[in-house]
Amino acid sequence: MILPIVKYGDPVLRQRGATVGKVTPELRQLARDMLDTMRKAEGVGLAAQQVGRALQLAVIDIPADSKRKSRLWLGGKEADVQSIMPLTLINPQIEITKKKELDNEGCLSFPGINIDLNRGFRVKVRYQDLDLIPREFEAGGLLGRAVQHEFDHLHGVLFIDKLSAADRGKLRDKIEAIRG
Ligand code: ZN
Repeated sequence: MILPIVKYGDPVLRQRGATVGKVTPELRQLARDMLDTMRKAEGVGLAAQQVGRALQLAVIDIPADSKRKSRLWLGGKEADVQSIMPLTLINPQIEITKKKELDNEGCLSFPGINIDLNRGFRVKVRYQDLDLIPREFEAGGLLGRAVQHEFDHLHGVLFIDKLSAADRGKLRDKIEAIRG
């Protein structure tokens, strides 16, 4: 089922997600609906807050034909990114490298806004899957960026928060137009 995507201005986007302690059939359905919703909107990641639910739950799916490069390491060995797609991340924790990388980023809660942002060059993720089995991987490129963006959402942090006041000022009219 396609769910309505919450836009900037809705207070749920500022809520920290509650820890998921149990995976109910309803939560499984929510994860499936979030993937459907994200794909329909042509996004690569979506956090529960973006469909109005403040939970530690996010989905990511990097299409196989993506023009932007992603990298994945499993157990320290480089692996095929598609081997773990689509991803459902429950209660994720991340460690970000000090080394940063500048690249362009959008957000389905900010239609029409793309900004250049520094993110960690590589990120280590520990999370639980839909059976609450602990898993981990390391990622870079678009996948690494998506993980960091979704992790922020789960803590009520939005990508515009990462901009300097001057850069945010330049985008103010566009951002306020989304708020409506
Ligand atoms: Zn977003």
